[in-house]
Amino acid sequence: MPTSKSSATISDAVSKSGASMGRPPEAMVDTPHIARKRFGQNFLHDPGVIARIVAAIAPKSGDCMVEIGPGQAALTEPLLRSLGHLHAIEIDRDLAARLRERFSSAQLTIHEQDVLKVDFMALSTALGAKLRIVGNLPYNISSPILFHLLESASVIGDQHVMLQKEVVDRMVAPCGSKIYGRLSVMLQARYTLQRCLIVPPGAFHPAPKVDSAIVRMVPLADHQVRVADWVVFAAVVMTAFSQRRKMLRNTLAGYSEVIDWERLGISPMQRAEELSVATFIALANHIAERFPSSGMATGHRPMA
Ligand code: SAM
Repeated sequence: MPTSKSSATISDAVSKSGASMGRPPEAMVDTPHIARKRFGQNFLHDPGVIARIVAAIAPKSGDCMVEIGPGQAALTEPLLRSLGHLHAIEIDRDLAARLRERFSSAQLTIHEQDVLKVDFMALSTALGAKLRIVGNLPYNISSPILFHLLESASVIGDQHVMLQKEVVDRMVAPCGSKIYGRLSVMLQARYTLQRCLIVPPGAFHPAPKVDSAIVRMVPLADHQVRVADWVVFAAVVMTAFSQRRKMLRNTLAGYSEVIDWERLGISPMQRAEELSVATFIALANHIAERFPSSGMATGHRPMA
């Protein structure tokens, strides 16, 4: 189980159900928070944009929702109006303290923790439900967060996350487009993805330099997932796109002894950007038949 800075685990936090963990000094609560760059803090402040995001999420009473990076509660507060209770993962201890001051433990269970160390499988088990994940993600670690969540996709009902628009465009890019790449293939193999809305820099304080976008990610049902070995799949996709302009016979030369190109119906002269997600899965499964990764052949761990 992962541990937070205060050495409490997620399960501890769940079982204590948000028990009081101390209050910030009064002065801290009254002083405006100064955004911390190292935590990717760009706070939403536009009420119209916030309302549209919450409408896209469509929170319902009884949902088991987990917000990543609640910050100053721009989304948390309107979400709570529908939900009644929410789990929130926040690494910044000053912000966590302010949230504790502002919301009761019956409303908000705060996990003062690095999201990359959160065991979402354990959280889902402890709560006895699939999780709905939401968050305006810290852009400096958005890809690691996406891959961390991918490992727990089987216990997640859906995800609505805000990222740089350019990253969302790469996630949903179709085969053959210039921006179709590792992120597109890895995520499209596990989720249906939909870009919901574009958010301009002026909706945040401080304003980022680029547009942002909300993406809806719904994990495929386990029986629809075709990847046999996520470790092999991740390695093949990463290797194929390591030099996207090169032909597969060159980029995948390390696997040449085990690939039967003809049986797969793939030309070794093709480039990675020309292979559909389904073809990548067939290729990786074919390689995994001969080169299975040790002990994880049927698991959901997606990273090499
Ligand atoms: N949800 C707020 C909003 O929309 O205004 C804040 C969003 S801000 C872009 C990202 C939030 O994620 C901040 O509150 C930041 O402190 C938190 N954060 C950054 N890195 C984190 C990490 N590794 N684990 C958990 N929270 C993190």
